[in-house]
Amino acid sequence: MFLRPLLDLLFPPLCHACKGAIPVAGADSVPPRPLICAGCLGKISFLESPLCTLCGAPFATDRGSDHLCGACLAHPPFHTCRSAAVLEGPLQDLIHRFKYGGKMHLADPLGVLTFQRVEQFLRQAGADCVVPVPLHRKRLRQRGYNQSQLLAEVLGKKLKVPQVVGNLRRLRWTEPQTGLDAGDRVTNVKDAFGVGEPKALAGKRVLLVDDVFTTGSTLGACVDALREAEVAAVAAVTVARGIPH
Ligand SMILES: [Zn+2]
Ligand SMILES: [Zn+2]
Repeated sequence: MFLRPLLDLLFPPLCHACKGAIPVAGADSVPPRPLICAGCLGKISFLESPLCTLCGAPFATDRGSDHLCGACLAHPPFHTCRSAAVLEGPLQDLIHRFKYGGKMHLADPLGVLTFQRVEQFLRQAGADCVVPVPLHRKRLRQRGYNQSQLLAEVLGKKLKVPQVVGNLRRLRWTEPQTGLDAGDRVTNVKDAFGVGEPKALAGKRVLLVDDVFTTGSTLGACVDALREAEVAAVAAVTVARGIPH
């Protein structure tokens, strides 16, 4: 504990995004430390109210309180969802390196950042367990790790709830969602997930974790599978959300 300030003085921690030194006296020196410098944090578009109470979609206006969006009013989803920030700028670079560049250690800053931004939502969800969006075995072999599982581990530790890995499964191979439109994305992942042992999750409140929310089709397909396993509720969380332009 007492060593930290001294170490920081001798070897200032580096920002994960720009690799610049983070000043010791800054707020970033107080744990928990996402270790992203103030300059880079300033370039991240964090999602703020007003958001849709259920799906977490941001509204065009920056005034007013959270309320239901048109889509959730018409068809209320079974689950709620929140993301920390918009998928752009330094955050997009960080996620790209985390997911495709083998930078597993970025799970920590990304997980801590997400926890800090959506802590209230996570606390209210009162999850009994944390479940990562699974990768297909083939993709897991290619990548060597499941980035959502690493994030779920960080969030589970913060919330002091266990992570359940391997029960929610990919039942079939799906092509990457990138480049598909919203309708094709839903078709691509439909019935792609299943729960191996429904009894282990029945009646539980689940926190479902993924790195990025784009159209919500992957999360939606996971929620369908969890629902079939008769979970009590699902709250989904992602680090970033792609906002259609
Ligand atoms: Zn930086
Ligand atoms: Zn909504």
